[in-house]
Amino acid sequence: MTEIIDGNAVAADVRDGLADAIETLTDAGHKPGLATVLMSEDPASETYVSMKQRDCAEVGIESHHVEIDPDAPAEELYDTVDDLNADDAVNGILVQMPVPDHVDTRRVLRSVDPRKDVDGFHPENVGRMVAGHPRFKPCTPHGIQKLLEAYDVETEGAEAVVVGRSNIVGKPMTNLLIQKAPLGNATTTVCHSRTKDLAAHTRAADIVIAAAGAPELVTGDMLGDGATVVDVGVNRVDADTEKGYELVGDVEYESAEEVAGAITPVPGGVGPMTRAMLLWNTVKAASEQSGVDVDLP
Ligand code: NAD
Repeated sequence: MTEIIDGNAVAADVRDGLADAIETLTDAGHKPGLATVLMSEDPASETYVSMKQRDCAEVGIESHHVEIDPDAPAEELYDTVDDLNADDAVNGILVQMPVPDHVDTRRVLRSVDPRKDVDGFHPENVGRMVAGHPRFKPCTPHGIQKLLEAYDVETEGAEAVVVGRSNIVGKPMTNLLIQKAPLGNATTTVCHSRTKDLAAHTRAADIVIAAAGAPELVTGDMLGDGATVVDVGVNRVDADTEKGYELVGDVEYESAEEVAGAITPVPGGVGPMTRAMLLWNTVKAASEQSGVDVDLP
């Protein structure tokens, strides 16, 4: 029987676990605060930011939202980040990507105070993670580790294949999987757009993490029997629905489910974990900045 990995349930457990920590911090006069900065009129970005604000409200984290006109000079965004860096009520800062072309994305990522960089994208935090002592793990790979932990998926000594090498998913995921640490110690192969024979790699894997942004790229015949399949992809494809599209993952669910030992659905797998781990990182930031110790789930 294939186990369906329920990201909504694991994310709810993470949020429950955070509630105590948030209460402790709030009682000590340090209510955690997360700032979201949006410089875009892209409906998807607007939706992501409003979901993050809703998530914060639900667990008792204060949201600080700044919206910047996408046509405004880049300096407005840089200045906003400086202000948020200096604001003691703000423990975490998230600049919603992508930003407009006239803004220097790398400058933005570098300008967030690394102690408030709850996305984990600042070069200092990337470096710390690669060196094996992460401060903030990026939310999606961190959430995937939590899913693997919740479902007792053994990573130690496992053959893992990560499909995708982006800075936000593929690379940090690979990094966490190879760390000499719990939920690491996997023999990990990274596949990407230039990989010659993707199926040869995925077929030999105990754990496949698909983060390619390619609809239904990984099919059942590309998987080994009993593999754990984590589908990160969220792809809009044309469909005969009210909206004219539907969301599908990077894995062809129907065929993969027949072969896999465990599989994440889309939606309801990785997505809710990414959201929960942003809250987790914000609470960690608040604890470190305030000096108030809390237990993190
Ligand atoms: P990206 O476009 O930055 O990177 C995609 C990577 O996949 C690239 O490194 C590319 O080399 C590789 N790739 C593309 N086509 C391939 C192919 N045919 N074979 C092998 N490798 C291929 O994307 P990203 O930001 O890493 O996101 C990947 C997917 O995950 C997207 O669908 C995105 O929407 C989704 N995503 C979901 C969450 C979530 O929380 N559920 C979070 C982040 C990203």
